Amino acid sequence: MQRDEQIFELIQAEKERQLHGIELIASENFVSDQVMEAAGSVLTNKYAEGYPGKRYYGGCEVVDEVEQIAIDRAKALFGAAYVNVQPHSGSQANTAVFAACLKPGDKILGFDLSHGGHLTHGSPVNFSGKLYNPVFYGVEQETGVLNYDKIQEIATKEQPKLIIAGASAYSRDIDFKRFRAIADSVGAILMADISHPAGLIAKGILNDPIPHCHIVTTTTHKTLRGPRGGIIMMGEDFENPFGITLKNGNLRKMSSLLDSAVFPGNQGGPLEHIIAAKAIAFGEALTDDFLNYQLQVKQNAATMAEALVSKGYNIISGGTDNHCMLIDLRNKNLSGKDAEQALVKSDITVNKNMVPFDDKSPFVTSGIRLGVAAVTTRGLKEDDMLAIAELVDDVIVNYENESALEAVKDKVNAMMKDKPLFV
Ligand code: PLP
Repeated sequence: MQRDEQIFELIQAEKERQLHGIELIASENFVSDQVMEAAGSVLTNKYAEGYPGKRYYGGCEVVDEVEQIAIDRAKALFGAAYVNVQPHSGSQANTAVFAACLKPGDKILGFDLSHGGHLTHGSPVNFSGKLYNPVFYGVEQETGVLNYDKIQEIATKEQPKLIIAGASAYSRDIDFKRFRAIADSVGAILMADISHPAGLIAKGILNDPIPHCHIVTTTTHKTLRGPRGGIIMMGEDFENPFGITLKNGNLRKMSSLLDSAVFPGNQGGPLEHIIAAKAIAFGEALTDDFLNYQLQVKQNAATMAEALVSKGYNIISGGTDNHCMLIDLRNKNLSGKDAEQALVKSDITVNKNMVPFDDKSPFVTSGIRLGVAAVTTRGLKEDDMLAIAELVDDVIVNYENESALEAVKDKVNAMMKDKPLFV
Protein backbone atom coordinates (compact mmCIF):
# COMPACT_ATOMS: atom_id res chain seq x y z
CA MET A 1 0.00 0.00 0.00
CA GLN A 2 1.27 3.44 -0.87
CA ARG A 3 2.20 5.64 2.08
CA ASP A 4 -0.21 8.54 2.41
CA GLU A 5 2.33 11.34 2.11
CA GLN A 6 -0.38 13.98 2.05
CA ILE A 7 -1.46 13.20 5.59
CA PHE A 8 2.04 12.41 6.92
CA GLU A 9 3.34 15.74 5.63
CA LEU A 10 0.55 17.45 7.53
CA ILE A 11 1.38 15.48 10.68
CA GLN A 12 4.99 16.58 10.30
CA ALA A 13 3.87 20.20 9.84
CA GLU A 14 1.82 19.97 13.04
CA LYS A 15 4.80 18.50 14.87
CA GLU A 16 6.96 21.44 13.71
CA ARG A 17 4.26 23.87 14.89
CA GLN A 18 4.20 22.24 18.31
CA LEU A 19 8.02 22.22 18.50
CA HIS A 20 8.59 25.85 17.60
CA GLY A 21 5.73 27.51 19.45
CA ILE A 22 4.81 28.41 23.00
CA GLU A 23 1.71 26.37 23.85
CA LEU A 24 -0.49 28.17 26.35
CA ILE A 25 -3.85 26.51 25.63
CA ALA A 26 -4.96 25.53 29.13
CA SER A 27 -6.55 22.24 28.03
CA GLU A 28 -3.51 20.93 26.16
CA ASN A 29 -0.36 19.04 27.11
CA PHE A 30 2.33 16.85 25.52
CA VAL A 31 2.13 13.11 26.22
CA SER A 32 5.20 10.95 26.81
CA ASP A 33 6.66 8.76 24.08
CA GLN A 34 5.25 5.61 25.68
CA VAL A 35 1.75 7.10 25.92
CA MET A 36 2.00 8.06 22.23
CA GLU A 37 3.29 4.58 21.32
CA ALA A 38 0.39 2.85 23.04
CA ALA A 39 -2.11 5.22 21.41
CA GLY A 40 -0.73 4.23 18.00
CA SER A 41 -0.50 0.50 18.76
CA VAL A 42 -2.15 -2.65 17.39
CA LEU A 43 -4.76 -2.42 20.11
CA THR A 44 -6.61 -0.08 17.75
CA ASN A 45 -7.52 -3.21 15.77
CA LYS A 46 -9.44 -4.89 18.59
CA TYR A 47 -13.18 -4.82 19.29
CA ALA A 48 -14.04 -5.39 22.94
CA GLU A 49 -17.63 -4.33 23.68
CA GLY A 50 -18.36 -4.98 27.33
CA TYR A 51 -16.05 -4.92 30.34
CA PRO A 52 -13.06 -7.03 31.47
CA GLY A 53 -14.22 -10.64 31.88
CA LYS A 54 -17.65 -9.82 30.40
CA ARG A 55 -17.11 -9.10 26.70
CA TYR A 56 -19.30 -9.58 23.66
CA TYR A 57 -16.29 -10.51 21.46
CA GLY A 58 -13.70 -13.28 21.51
CA GLY A 59 -9.96 -12.74 21.83
CA CYS A 60 -10.21 -10.14 24.58
CA GLU A 61 -7.83 -11.80 27.07
CA VAL A 62 -5.05 -9.30 26.44
CA VAL A 63 -7.16 -6.16 26.37
CA ASP A 64 -8.97 -7.38 29.50
CA GLU A 65 -5.64 -7.22 31.31
CA VAL A 66 -4.82 -3.81 29.85
CA GLU A 67 -8.18 -2.35 30.86
CA GLN A 68 -8.02 -3.82 34.37
CA ILE A 69 -4.56 -2.29 34.89
CA ALA A 70 -5.90 1.09 33.74
CA ILE A 71 -8.79 0.79 36.24
CA ASP A 72 -6.55 -0.28 39.11
CA ARG A 73 -4.02 2.50 38.49
CA ALA A 74 -6.73 5.18 38.26
CA LYS A 75 -8.19 3.89 41.55
CA ALA A 76 -4.77 4.12 43.20
CA LEU A 77 -4.07 7.55 41.72
CA PHE A 78 -7.31 9.20 42.84
CA GLY A 79 -8.20 7.03 45.84
CA ALA A 80 -11.39 5.95 44.05
CA ALA A 81 -13.39 2.77 44.71
CA TYR A 82 -14.93 2.64 41.21
CA VAL A 83 -13.50 3.74 37.87
CA ASN A 84 -14.78 3.40 34.30
CA VAL A 85 -11.95 4.09 31.84
CA GLN A 86 -13.98 3.68 28.64
CA PRO A 87 -15.45 7.15 27.90
CA HIS A 88 -13.97 8.34 24.61
CA SER A 89 -13.91 11.94 25.85
CA GLY A 90 -14.76 14.17 28.77
CA SER A 91 -18.05 15.04 27.14
CA GLN A 92 -18.97 11.37 26.84
CA ALA A 93 -18.10 10.79 30.50
CA ASN A 94 -20.50 13.58 31.45
CA THR A 95 -23.15 12.32 29.02
CA ALA A 96 -23.02 8.90 30.67
CA VAL A 97 -23.32 10.30 34.19
CA PHE A 98 -26.37 12.35 33.24
CA ALA A 99 -27.93 9.36 31.49
CA ALA A 100 -27.37 7.20 34.59
CA CYS A 101 -28.73 9.75 37.09
CA LEU A 102 -31.35 11.82 35.27
CA LYS A 103 -34.44 11.65 33.11
CA PRO A 104 -34.91 14.05 30.20
CA GLY A 105 -36.30 17.32 31.54
CA ASP A 106 -34.70 16.98 34.98
CA LYS A 107 -33.14 20.11 36.39
CA ILE A 108 -29.35 20.44 36.59
CA LEU A 109 -27.33 23.23 38.22
CA GLY A 110 -23.99 24.02 36.56
CA PHE A 111 -21.32 26.69 36.26
CA ASP A 112 -22.31 29.27 33.63
CA LEU A 113 -20.24 28.75 30.46
CA SER A 114 -19.47 32.47 30.16
CA HIS A 115 -18.22 32.51 33.76
CA GLY A 116 -15.87 29.54 33.32
CA GLY A 117 -18.09 26.46 33.04
CA HIS A 118 -18.09 23.85 30.25
CA LEU A 119 -20.50 23.26 27.38
CA THR A 120 -21.58 19.94 28.91
CA HIS A 121 -22.67 21.66 32.13
CA GLY A 122 -25.98 22.84 30.65
CA SER A 123 -25.16 25.09 27.69
CA PRO A 124 -28.22 25.51 25.41
CA VAL A 125 -26.15 24.51 22.35
CA ASN A 126 -25.12 21.20 23.97
CA PHE A 127 -27.06 17.98 24.71
CA SER A 128 -26.89 18.93 28.40
CA GLY A 129 -28.92 22.09 27.82
CA LYS A 130 -31.26 20.54 25.24
CA LEU A 131 -32.12 17.29 27.00
CA TYR A 132 -32.15 18.57 30.58
CA ASN A 133 -33.39 21.73 32.24
CA PRO A 134 -30.32 23.79 33.17
CA VAL A 135 -29.94 26.57 35.72
CA PHE A 136 -26.62 28.21 36.50
CA TYR A 137 -24.39 29.68 39.15
CA GLY A 138 -21.55 32.08 38.34
CA VAL A 139 -18.78 34.16 39.87
CA GLU A 140 -19.14 37.48 41.63
CA GLN A 141 -18.59 40.51 39.40
CA GLU A 142 -16.34 42.31 41.90
CA THR A 143 -14.13 39.38 42.94
CA GLY A 144 -14.34 36.87 40.09
CA VAL A 145 -14.75 34.02 42.61
CA LEU A 146 -17.61 31.69 43.45
CA ASN A 147 -19.95 32.75 46.24
CA TYR A 148 -21.12 29.53 47.92
CA ASP A 149 -23.92 31.30 49.82
CA LYS A 150 -25.38 32.35 46.47
CA ILE A 151 -25.00 28.84 45.05
CA GLN A 152 -26.92 27.59 48.10
CA GLU A 153 -29.65 30.17 47.47
CA ILE A 154 -30.00 29.12 43.82
CA ALA A 155 -30.07 25.43 44.76
CA THR A 156 -32.73 26.02 47.43
CA LYS A 157 -34.88 27.97 44.97
CA GLU A 158 -34.40 25.69 41.96
CA GLN A 159 -34.22 22.24 43.64
CA PRO A 160 -31.97 20.65 40.97
CA LYS A 161 -31.68 16.89 40.70
CA LEU A 162 -27.93 17.11 39.96
CA ILE A 163 -25.29 19.76 40.71
CA ILE A 164 -22.04 20.04 38.76
CA ALA A 165 -18.93 21.39 40.46
CA GLY A 166 -16.13 22.05 38.02
CA ALA A 167 -14.96 24.38 35.29
CA SER A 168 -12.98 24.99 32.13
CA ALA A 169 -11.76 28.47 32.98
CA TYR A 170 -11.71 29.01 36.74
CA SER A 171 -8.38 29.63 38.40
CA ARG A 172 -9.37 29.09 42.03
CA ASP A 173 -9.63 25.92 44.09
CA ILE A 174 -13.14 24.52 44.49
CA ASP A 175 -14.68 23.77 47.89
CA PHE A 176 -16.22 20.34 47.22
CA LYS A 177 -17.18 19.87 50.87
CA ARG A 178 -19.31 23.01 50.71
CA PHE A 179 -20.82 21.88 47.41
CA ARG A 180 -21.77 18.58 49.08
CA ALA A 181 -23.53 20.39 51.92
CA ILE A 182 -25.48 22.36 49.30
CA ALA A 183 -26.34 19.17 47.37
CA ASP A 184 -27.43 17.37 50.56
CA SER A 185 -29.66 20.28 51.57
CA VAL A 186 -31.77 19.77 48.41
CA GLY A 187 -31.27 16.02 47.95
CA ALA A 188 -29.26 16.48 44.74
CA ILE A 189 -26.56 14.26 43.31
CA LEU A 190 -23.21 16.04 43.27
CA MET A 191 -20.92 15.50 40.28
CA ALA A 192 -17.44 17.02 40.11
CA ASP A 193 -15.89 17.53 36.69
CA ILE A 194 -12.17 17.91 37.41
CA SER A 195 -11.05 17.80 33.76
CA HIS A 196 -8.73 20.78 34.07
CA PRO A 197 -7.05 20.41 37.47
CA ALA A 198 -7.07 16.56 37.61
CA GLY A 199 -3.27 16.28 37.68
CA LEU A 200 -2.97 18.78 40.53
CA ILE A 201 -5.77 17.04 42.43
CA ALA A 202 -4.22 13.60 41.90
CA LYS A 203 -1.03 14.81 43.61
CA GLY A 204 -2.84 16.44 46.54
CA ILE A 205 -2.11 20.03 45.49
CA LEU A 206 -5.78 21.04 45.26
CA ASN A 207 -8.94 19.99 47.14
CA ASP A 208 -9.90 16.35 46.66
CA PRO A 209 -13.47 15.80 45.36
CA ILE A 210 -13.53 12.01 45.87
CA PRO A 211 -14.54 12.06 49.59
CA HIS A 212 -17.32 14.57 48.96
CA CYS A 213 -18.81 14.14 45.49
CA HIS A 214 -21.07 11.25 44.54
CA ILE A 215 -19.49 11.01 41.09
CA VAL A 216 -16.30 12.49 39.63
CA THR A 217 -15.49 12.81 35.93
CA THR A 218 -12.33 13.98 34.24
CA THR A 219 -10.66 14.17 30.89
CA THR A 220 -7.30 12.41 30.80
CA HIS A 221 -5.44 14.81 28.51
CA LYS A 222 -5.08 18.14 30.30
CA THR A 223 -2.99 18.48 33.47
CA LEU A 224 -3.21 14.69 33.81
CA ARG A 225 -1.01 14.44 30.66
CA GLY A 226 -2.55 11.31 29.18
CA PRO A 227 -4.16 10.55 25.82
CA ARG A 228 -7.39 12.30 24.83
CA GLY A 229 -10.26 10.67 26.68
CA GLY A 230 -12.41 10.60 29.80
CA ILE A 231 -12.99 8.55 32.93
CA ILE A 232 -15.73 8.31 35.56
CA MET A 233 -14.99 7.65 39.24
CA MET A 234 -16.72 7.18 42.58
CA GLY A 235 -15.41 7.15 46.13
CA GLU A 236 -16.03 4.50 48.74
CA ASP A 237 -19.43 5.52 50.02
CA PHE A 238 -21.50 6.24 46.98
CA GLU A 239 -22.58 2.89 45.65
CA ASN A 240 -26.06 2.78 47.11
CA PRO A 241 -27.62 6.12 47.91
CA PHE A 242 -28.85 6.76 44.39
CA GLY A 243 -29.10 3.26 43.05
CA ILE A 244 -32.36 2.17 41.47
CA THR A 245 -34.51 -0.44 43.24
CA LEU A 246 -35.52 -3.15 40.79
CA LYS A 247 -38.97 -4.83 40.68
CA ASN A 248 -37.61 -7.84 42.61
CA GLY A 249 -36.51 -5.49 45.41
CA ASN A 250 -32.80 -5.74 44.64
CA LEU A 251 -30.83 -2.57 44.36
CA ARG A 252 -29.16 -1.73 41.07
CA LYS A 253 -25.96 -0.10 42.23
CA MET A 254 -24.73 3.23 40.96
CA SER A 255 -21.59 1.61 39.53
CA SER A 256 -23.64 -0.70 37.33
CA LEU A 257 -25.88 2.19 36.23
CA LEU A 258 -22.78 4.14 35.22
CA ASP A 259 -21.19 1.18 33.43
CA SER A 260 -24.40 0.57 31.47
CA ALA A 261 -24.71 4.28 30.65
CA VAL A 262 -21.23 4.21 29.04
CA PHE A 263 -21.73 0.86 27.28
CA PRO A 264 -24.21 0.06 25.80
CA GLY A 265 -25.96 3.33 26.66
CA ASN A 266 -23.70 5.83 25.00
CA GLN A 267 -20.79 4.05 23.29
CA GLY A 268 -19.99 0.85 21.43
CA GLY A 269 -16.53 -0.68 21.47
CA PRO A 270 -14.00 0.87 23.85
CA LEU A 271 -10.79 2.30 22.38
CA GLU A 272 -8.39 -0.20 23.92
CA HIS A 273 -5.32 1.51 22.42
CA ILE A 274 -6.36 4.70 24.22
CA ILE A 275 -7.15 2.75 27.39
CA ALA A 276 -3.60 1.31 27.24
CA ALA A 277 -2.27 4.86 26.85
CA LYS A 278 -4.44 5.95 29.80
CA ALA A 279 -2.97 3.10 31.89
CA ILE A 280 0.55 4.26 31.06
CA ALA A 281 -0.30 7.89 31.86
CA PHE A 282 -1.82 6.85 35.20
CA GLY A 283 1.35 4.87 35.93
CA GLU A 284 3.43 7.97 35.16
CA ALA A 285 1.13 10.08 37.31
CA LEU A 286 1.71 7.76 40.28
CA THR A 287 5.44 8.67 40.37
CA ASP A 288 7.22 11.38 42.36
CA ASP A 289 8.38 12.91 39.07
CA PHE A 290 4.76 13.73 38.35
CA LEU A 291 4.39 15.39 41.77
CA ASN A 292 7.41 17.58 40.95
CA TYR A 293 5.87 18.36 37.57
CA GLN A 294 2.57 19.44 39.15
CA LEU A 295 4.36 21.56 41.77
CA GLN A 296 6.20 23.26 38.91
CA VAL A 297 2.91 23.77 37.02
CA LYS A 298 1.40 25.55 40.02
CA GLN A 299 4.53 27.65 40.56
CA ASN A 300 4.80 28.57 36.88
CA ALA A 301 1.13 29.62 36.70
CA ALA A 302 1.43 31.77 39.82
CA THR A 303 4.59 33.41 38.46
CA MET A 304 3.02 34.14 35.07
CA ALA A 305 -0.17 35.52 36.66
CA GLU A 306 1.80 37.81 38.94
CA ALA A 307 3.93 39.10 36.05
CA LEU A 308 0.84 39.83 33.94
CA VAL A 309 -0.97 41.56 36.82
CA SER A 310 2.09 43.77 37.32
CA LYS A 311 1.78 44.77 33.64
CA GLY A 312 -1.80 45.91 34.19
CA TYR A 313 -3.62 42.78 33.03
CA ASN A 314 -6.96 42.07 34.66
CA ILE A 315 -6.83 38.41 35.62
CA ILE A 316 -10.25 37.24 36.78
CA SER A 317 -10.06 36.73 40.58
CA GLY A 318 -6.65 38.44 40.62
CA GLY A 319 -4.48 35.34 40.27
CA THR A 320 -4.48 31.56 40.17
CA ASP A 321 -4.37 28.51 42.45
CA ASN A 322 -4.03 26.05 39.58
CA HIS A 323 -2.54 25.83 36.08
CA CYS A 324 -4.67 28.43 34.30
CA MET A 325 -5.85 32.02 34.25
CA LEU A 326 -8.53 33.99 32.46
CA ILE A 327 -7.62 37.53 31.33
CA ASP A 328 -10.21 40.23 30.73
CA LEU A 329 -8.71 42.37 27.95
CA ARG A 330 -11.30 45.15 28.04
CA ASN A 331 -8.82 47.58 29.62
CA LYS A 332 -6.36 46.79 26.79
CA ASN A 333 -8.83 47.75 24.06
CA LEU A 334 -8.69 44.61 21.96
CA SER A 335 -10.97 41.58 21.80
CA GLY A 336 -10.09 38.00 22.69
CA LYS A 337 -10.33 37.18 19.00
CA ASP A 338 -7.82 39.91 18.01
CA ALA A 339 -5.47 38.83 20.80
CA GLU A 340 -5.66 35.13 19.83
CA GLN A 341 -4.94 35.95 16.17
CA ALA A 342 -2.02 38.25 16.95
CA LEU A 343 -0.50 35.74 19.39
CA VAL A 344 -0.76 32.95 16.78
CA LYS A 345 1.20 35.16 14.33
CA SER A 346 3.97 35.17 16.95
CA ASP A 347 3.75 31.37 17.44
CA ILE A 348 2.10 31.69 20.86
CA THR A 349 -1.09 29.61 21.00
CA VAL A 350 -3.94 30.57 23.34
CA ASN A 351 -7.72 30.53 23.01
CA LYS A 352 -10.12 33.43 23.10
CA ASN A 353 -12.57 33.01 25.94
CA MET A 354 -15.71 34.66 27.28
CA VAL A 355 -15.12 36.45 30.57
CA PRO A 356 -17.75 36.83 33.30
CA PHE A 357 -20.32 39.50 32.35
CA ASP A 358 -18.89 39.67 28.82
CA ASP A 359 -20.52 42.09 26.40
CA LYS A 360 -19.08 40.39 23.29
CA SER A 361 -20.23 37.23 21.49
CA PRO A 362 -18.53 33.83 21.96
CA PHE A 363 -16.96 34.29 18.50
CA VAL A 364 -15.29 37.55 19.53
CA THR A 365 -15.07 37.53 23.35
CA SER A 366 -13.36 39.96 25.70
CA GLY A 367 -10.78 37.56 27.04
CA ILE A 368 -8.11 34.94 26.58
CA ARG A 369 -7.41 31.88 28.68
CA LEU A 370 -3.81 30.86 29.39
CA GLY A 371 -2.47 27.65 30.95
CA VAL A 372 1.03 26.41 31.67
CA ALA A 373 0.68 22.59 31.78
CA ALA A 374 2.14 22.16 28.26
CA VAL A 375 5.08 24.57 28.58
CA THR A 376 5.93 23.06 31.97
CA THR A 377 6.12 19.62 30.32
CA ARG A 378 8.71 21.14 27.97
CA GLY A 379 10.85 22.03 30.98
CA LEU A 380 10.09 25.74 31.32
CA LYS A 381 10.50 27.27 34.76
CA GLU A 382 9.72 30.53 36.57
CA ASP A 383 12.25 32.67 34.64
CA ASP A 384 10.72 31.47 31.38
CA MET A 385 7.26 32.45 32.66
CA LEU A 386 8.51 36.01 33.21
CA ALA A 387 9.90 36.00 29.66
CA ILE A 388 6.61 34.64 28.25
CA ALA A 389 4.63 37.34 30.09
CA GLU A 390 6.89 39.93 28.38
CA LEU A 391 6.31 38.32 24.97
CA VAL A 392 2.52 38.11 25.44
CA ASP A 393 2.46 41.76 26.51
CA ASP A 394 4.58 42.75 23.49
CA VAL A 395 2.04 41.10 21.19
CA ILE A 396 -1.01 42.61 22.90
CA VAL A 397 0.46 46.11 22.86
CA ASN A 398 1.55 45.80 19.20
CA TYR A 399 -1.23 43.58 17.93
CA GLU A 400 -1.64 45.50 14.66
CA ASN A 401 2.09 45.90 14.00
CA GLU A 402 3.18 43.01 11.75
CA SER A 403 6.91 43.61 12.10
CA ALA A 404 6.66 43.71 15.91
CA LEU A 405 4.74 40.40 15.82
CA GLU A 406 7.43 38.92 13.55
CA ALA A 407 10.14 40.03 16.02
CA VAL A 408 8.28 38.32 18.89
CA LYS A 409 7.97 35.17 16.77
CA ASP A 410 11.77 35.06 16.34
CA LYS A 411 12.19 35.32 20.11
CA VAL A 412 9.58 32.59 20.68
CA ASN A 413 11.27 30.22 18.21
CA ALA A 414 14.71 30.90 19.76
CA MET A 415 13.31 30.25 23.23
CA MET A 416 11.73 26.89 22.26
CA LYS A 417 14.60 25.72 20.04
CA ASP A 418 16.28 23.43 22.57
CA LYS A 419 13.25 22.57 24.66
CA PRO A 420 12.49 18.88 24.33
CA LEU A 421 9.18 17.63 23.05
CA PHE A 422 8.39 13.94 23.33
CA VAL A 423 8.26 11.87 20.11
N1 PLP B 1 -15.35 19.12 31.10
C1 PLP B 1 -14.53 20.16 31.22
C2 PLP B 1 -14.52 20.93 32.50
C3 PLP B 1 -13.69 20.52 30.16
O1 PLP B 1 -12.89 21.59 30.28
C4 PLP B 1 -13.73 19.75 28.97
C5 PLP B 1 -12.88 20.07 27.81
O2 PLP B 1 -12.37 21.09 27.60
C6 PLP B 1 -14.63 18.69 28.89
C7 PLP B 1 -15.43 18.39 29.97
C8 PLP B 1 -14.84 17.92 27.62
O3 PLP B 1 -13.79 17.18 27.22
P1 PLP B 1 -13.71 16.62 25.71
O4 PLP B 1 -13.20 17.75 24.89
O5 PLP B 1 -12.76 15.47 25.87
O6 PLP B 1 -15.07 16.18 25.32
